[in-house]
Amino acid sequence: MIDSHCHLDFTVFDDDRASLLNRCAQLGVQRILIPGTQPKSWPALMALADDYPQLDIAIGIHPWMIADAPAERDESLEAMQLALSQSHEAVVAVGETGLDFSIAQATDIQQQMLLAHMTLAAAHKLPLILHHRKSHNALIQMLTQQKWQWGGVIHAFSGSWHEATTYLDLGFKLGLGGTVTYPRAHKTREVVKRLPLDGWLLETDAPDMPVCGRQGQRNSPEYLPEIAAVVAELQGCELEKITQASEQNYYQLFGKIRS
Ligand SMILES: [Zn+2]
Repeated sequence: MIDSHCHLDFTVFDDDRASLLNRCAQLGVQRILIPGTQPKSWPALMALADDYPQLDIAIGIHPWMIADAPAERDESLEAMQLALSQSHEAVVAVGETGLDFSIAQATDIQQQMLLAHMTLAAAHKLPLILHHRKSHNALIQMLTQQKWQWGGVIHAFSGSWHEATTYLDLGFKLGLGGTVTYPRAHKTREVVKRLPLDGWLLETDAPDMPVCGRQGQRNSPEYLPEIAAVVAELQGCELEKITQASEQNYYQLFGKIRS
């Protein structure tokens, strides 16, 4: 199975990254996508992907990491253009970008940055990794207005059936992670029960978003099988079918398989 969203570059993994990846392989977690969060993280992502062929990466600026100074924002977008133009073979997406309306950063600046990500992603024919919080309507409006055609994933999806199907119709898959393991996430779990088999990806968002029962611990891609088991239970099918679909859906969206 594949972890489609894991911040394995964060320093909290510095002490045991290699052994962690070994444990993942033994547990059947054979591929991991690390999203970009800020310009200074990108060279490290490329270096990690060079060291470990089971890692894919994305180039992007997380809404939380958008610079306050306009000149710094322009610089970060120029750096992104340059990073994407290197065409590193491990880069499979642009992100994580998106809209977070629970933070102080102005919404119009977030929308400008998302639009810039979309322009660069379209130029490289790459799908998007989208972060959302209190922002489904604005995201859907932008994707629709821009006639977005390169697909992507709605990372850590939580929302209604209507929002879910709107994203599917726009060519997106829904990232299913820790949230779906909590019984209190009733609305999202009801959505997962009805999702088509090709409508989602598995993810941990490690080191954040602990699965139910592991609150307070560092989250890890090792726990992806626990999420897969919950998705199988909600979808009412064998675990095997879920782990297979997690791979098929991933390759359908992110295309290339690295050798
Ligand atoms: Zn993330």
